[in-house]
Amino acid sequence: MSLPSQTGPLRLSSFVTTDLAGITRGRSLPESAVAEQLASGCGWVPANSALTPQDIIADDNPWGSHGDLRLLPDPASRVRLEQGPDPLAPAFDYFHGDLVETDGRPWPVCPRSLLRAEILRYRELGLQVTAAFEHEFTLLGLASAPTAAFSLQAQRAAGAFPGWLMSALEQVGAEPEMFLPEYGRLQYEVTCRPTQGVAAADRAVNVREITREIARQSGLSSCFSPLRAPGEVTNGVHLHLSLQRLDGTPVFYDDSRANSLAELAEHWAAGVLRHLPALCALTAPTAVSYLRLKPHHWSAAYACLGLRNREAALRICPVVSLGGKPLARQFNLEFRPMDATASPHLAMAAVLIAGRLGMQERLPLGAVTDVDPDSLGAEERARRGIEALPGSLEEALRLLADDRLLREQLPPALLDTYFAMKRQELALTRDLTDEEVCQRYASLY
Ligand code: GLU
Ligand code: MG
Repeated sequence: MSLPSQTGPLRLSSFVTTDLAGITRGRSLPESAVAEQLASGCGWVPANSALTPQDIIADDNPWGSHGDLRLLPDPASRVRLEQGPDPLAPAFDYFHGDLVETDGRPWPVCPRSLLRAEILRYRELGLQVTAAFEHEFTLLGLASAPTAAFSLQAQRAAGAFPGWLMSALEQVGAEPEMFLPEYGRLQYEVTCRPTQGVAAADRAVNVREITREIARQSGLSSCFSPLRAPGEVTNGVHLHLSLQRLDGTPVFYDDSRANSLAELAEHWAAGVLRHLPALCALTAPTAVSYLRLKPHHWSAAYACLGLRNREAALRICPVVSLGGKPLARQFNLEFRPMDATASPHLAMAAVLIAGRLGMQERLPLGAVTDVDPDSLGAEERARRGIEALPGSLEEALRLLADDRLLREQLPPALLDTYFAMKRQELALTRDLTDEEVCQRYASLY
């Protein structure tokens, strides 16, 4: 009798897609078979795109039981984590992929393909897009619960977790920058360097998945949901964006102008602000998102541009002259009404679309808001043209449905699937108390 040449678990690699609900799903194959499957990917089902975060396929989705797609891996996007804190855990190995038809044509509901197409539109305008997503999350299961906000004690209470997380992010090429104890109890934040194009949204997915993996391997768990319980501090995702010419020259910064905003950046920001209330349906897309988007959470409740103002939905970030790094390269705008229940690819594509419309129409920018917009009062906000962000998912979806210019930029099949999925989600959450909404989403993200 001959023994198998290798015993023990096979090394597996996965092909994944991060869907419209921001959940990463996929299939795994032996690592040895990856090369053979790179050109054709693995099977996928259209109706999967209508899955709510609660794992129910929306009743009235356009696909039903029909159709077949391929999940086509992008070789450049491979993530390979060899070593985490648990020496027995298998290597974590996956490829981000695009959903395509069986003959390779793009499938209009794929969020990653949507972002790729939008990045191409920017290229046609002679622009490249650089972005970074900052993530806040709650770390659960620590032996000693940290107390003071931003404290060294809170950092130390996380034990080896931060070091392993940064090591893992480094191993997968995510260029980690900073790990910090945040304002909330058990709340932490991790930031990575900005990168270009689709890879920036892939990196956001990697930060979430690697954080979950390292927490799991450490006997802990992480929660990215925007609010775990009423009254707690919220978990945001902040998207930092800047544009460059194709040769890398930054174009958002002009220190001869007010707030150092180049004319192009003003048009871009004006476009984002014009569409912001409707954009929320894509960037803050669940019932729990609207328990976060309230005044005085530093999350944003109004569509205004602020200079270093954390109550503004769009923020001009500071540049630091200390240390001698070029200012124009640091300069970026931060989009704050986003959370981890959003698909990073879809959310980034939507913000870019809004900004591009602003540039193409040369939209004028109103005044920058340097105070808490909630303190201005309704009349003054109206005078300044500052709109409130939606107060519920239902309202956000209605605003998206009414925003013809934005809707026209999105594939109809994607919108049909998205609205069907969100209608189902609304039905699943409509009768829940705030506390129950928090609990449900904390268990999902
Ligand atoms: N936790 C806040 C949010 O939900 C952000 C706080 C900060 O500026 O870091 O967006
Ligand atoms: Mg923060």
